[in-house]
Amino acid sequence: MVQDSLKLNLSRNLKEALSHYCEQSGDTPERAALRALADFLDIEHHTVYQVSTSGALVEGVLQGAVPLREVLKHGDFGLGTFHGLDGEGILLDGQCWQALSDGTVRPVDAAQMTPFWVATRFQSEKDARIQDIRSIDDLYARLDAMRLSDNIFTGIRIEGFFSRVDVRVACKSEMGTDLVTATHNQAEFHFANVEGTLVGFYTPEYAHTIGVPGYHLHFISRDRTQGGHVLGLVANSLDIALDFGNELKLILPESSSFLNADLTGDTRSALEKAEKARN
Ligand SMILES: [Zn+2]
Repeated sequence: MVQDSLKLNLSRNLKEALSHYCEQSGDTPERAALRALADFLDIEHHTVYQVSTSGALVEGVLQGAVPLREVLKHGDFGLGTFHGLDGEGILLDGQCWQALSDGTVRPVDAAQMTPFWVATRFQSEKDARIQDIRSIDDLYARLDAMRLSDNIFTGIRIEGFFSRVDVRVACKSEMGTDLVTATHNQAEFHFANVEGTLVGFYTPEYAHTIGVPGYHLHFISRDRTQGGHVLGLVANSLDIALDFGNELKLILPESSSFLNADLTGDTRSALEKAEKARN
């Protein structure tokens, strides 16, 4: 039976080669060994699996492109949305949930299609407990201090008791509706004194046509009745875990709307409005 951690005796050759590799790369022996084992067993590791691009969403490519069943093969953790931008998706511990604009949360049928999703097999590489989080910007600053680099994707899992969480939930839209218009009439909810989990990613600024640059977090309550895309929060104490992703697997839709969309524009101001603004 395999335990959660392994103690190995290394041969001299292996030890020397691993030391040399770690000196050259700056990698830790643990990370290098885990990556090698994952490669050997053909398991995706520190891989961010993504369906479509933020630029396509901005342009209104809202058709479901991939069933959640497929996403679940590549990750047990992540976020996204559904065909027609119908609510906010949360993938946590291999279970997928849909927060709807009427304020309800329901389990997702694996046959449901997604036009945009980001997932990973979450494995914590760095964790910390932080206190007295006064705002979402305060949380972002604490996460900035914990991340390895601005240039790699980072999975972010945060657990705790929140004195306040403000979320929006996108309303189902007609195909072709651009993201700023589609989220203009978003439903907003304010949860007080709620226990739950934030699920999300940091995306490097240079990848702003692929993902949502900076932080993108979705919330789901512990009782799985409240959720959405996070706009604000306040909390006394939170447990943070980070997973640094240095591989990106990008699945592009083959729909005519994606194939014919003009994806050459700068998405930054549209994403700022659509993903960060409150009504
Ligand atoms: Zn979102």
